[in-house]
Amino acid sequence: MTTLNNSMTWIETEREFALPEQPFIGQLFIDGKWREASDGGRLSRNSPAFNIQVSDFAKATIADTEEAIVAARTAFDKGNWPTMSGSQRAAVLNKIADLVMAKQRQFALQEVLESGKPISQAMDEIEWAVDLWRYAAVCARSLHGDSFNNLGEDMLALVVREPIGVVSIITPWNFPFLILSQKLPFALAAGCTAVVKPSELTSGTSVMLAEILQQAGIPDGVVNILVGEGHDVGATMTSHKDVDMVTFTGSSAVGKKLTAVAAQSLKKVSLELGGKNPQIIFPDCDWEAAVDAVVFGTFFNGGECCNSGSRILVHQSIAADFEQAVKIRAAAVPFGDPLCKETKVGAMISTEHLQKIQDYLQVAIDQGAEISLGGSSVEHTGLYMQPTIVSKVTPDMQIAREEVFGPVLSILTFTDIEQAIEIANDCLYGLSAGVWSANIDNCLQVARKVKAGTVWVNGWMSGYPELPFGGYKQSGQGRELGRNALDEFTEQKTIQMHIGERTGWWLPREQK
Ligand code: NAD
Repeated sequence: MTTLNNSMTWIETEREFALPEQPFIGQLFIDGKWREASDGGRLSRNSPAFNIQVSDFAKATIADTEEAIVAARTAFDKGNWPTMSGSQRAAVLNKIADLVMAKQRQFALQEVLESGKPISQAMDEIEWAVDLWRYAAVCARSLHGDSFNNLGEDMLALVVREPIGVVSIITPWNFPFLILSQKLPFALAAGCTAVVKPSELTSGTSVMLAEILQQAGIPDGVVNILVGEGHDVGATMTSHKDVDMVTFTGSSAVGKKLTAVAAQSLKKVSLELGGKNPQIIFPDCDWEAAVDAVVFGTFFNGGECCNSGSRILVHQSIAADFEQAVKIRAAAVPFGDPLCKETKVGAMISTEHLQKIQDYLQVAIDQGAEISLGGSSVEHTGLYMQPTIVSKVTPDMQIAREEVFGPVLSILTFTDIEQAIEIANDCLYGLSAGVWSANIDNCLQVARKVKAGTVWVNGWMSGYPELPFGGYKQSGQGRELGRNALDEFTEQKTIQMHIGERTGWWLPREQK
């Protein structure tokens, strides 16, 4: 481990895994068969941490995408997956969970190589993802509708839930397998069929899953997995007439574009988008816990996280001391080689993204903020960025309002609770928020008034499959997970059953 000039903790200890000698080779998975792309095209991925080629995939064309959609349509309309019992579907989902868990190390390594995230975190993510498959299996068995026996003597009504049909699943690069697992098992549990397109930067684990799906007994055509780009493959998955629903996680900008395309055929769209999530820190907070949560919330996954607590609002009276404490802890965050077990912040996803983070910092400086820790990229084999703190930030600055998506914390201050809530809500996003105080009134007021899909009280970024997740405002549309996790992937059908003799509607009342 070396300490850089500016007191940052660069880590270089023994690696948990050796670098692979060969890249992972992937094909398209369409209708239960492995295939090359129709035009023979390939898509290569270099590791952002080690600058070696780590994946080489067949790259889907529009024609391949259309074929995958037809396969999913046929499997839905003619196959047995939508009609089999919940317990049969649950058995397959549980088997998939077991098989993924058995390959945890291979999955985790591929994610590290393609994304640059730390290996210890990648191992955890695969385990969390497996838990989602198991939770979806529970949901498959408990999906049910409603009945109405209170509509009068001649009527009994049922409300049944049916799978919505063919679902397009489009995912981002920051938590590749975890986010896929927030969608695919629930679509399958409901009885849907799917076409999946992971991010072109981190497709490995989605492709690796296909083999497991086959082993576990998913029928041909029920899940089709395509590696490709958004402008052609993603756009076709969004516009195609045979797709019934699109579930998308990614940037708000692409979410808007995709929704406009889907609107042409009025498909259902569910969206999990960006965030600019505030943590509000009161003077009576548990200081140690709050400092730790701020550092964790900002630097987890290198800040490339929709839930990043990237702006903290600290009460004016403690702002200087709190910032100092965060700075000391942040400078000790081990960053560097993501294959070392101790690493907490690995590499950034791409050269363009690293540049975007640097550009945000430059604008912040130009607008009057100060870099009080880090701020630079690190010369190494890959794309590394120092954990960074920006202070003297005011709510009108770009860095306080836009999603930087890097290891960058903005510190703002407030003088009373009303102002804190106003600043927290003065933002286009509304994904998550946090409050730190020993005073229950402060906590409840913030929890009730802040416009965010999740509010953490004296904590940050815990998550459970049992709890719904999603965003207010431009952070999304719809909710994933929770007790009603399958609802997103179903249609409701009302069945009204007349009992007894029916009287004609044209008869005068007295003749009835
Ligand atoms: P992105 O929007 O650039 O890409 C996401 C996916 O959309 C990729 O698979 C991409 O190929 C595809 N795509 C691009 N253009 C498309 C188009 N025109 N039609 C259809 N698909 C298209 O996002 P990203 O850079 O991969 O991920 C980072 C973003 O994701 C951040 O904004 C982050 O906040 C967000 N995110 C949100 C959540 C959440 O749960 N709310 C979770 C993780 C990431």
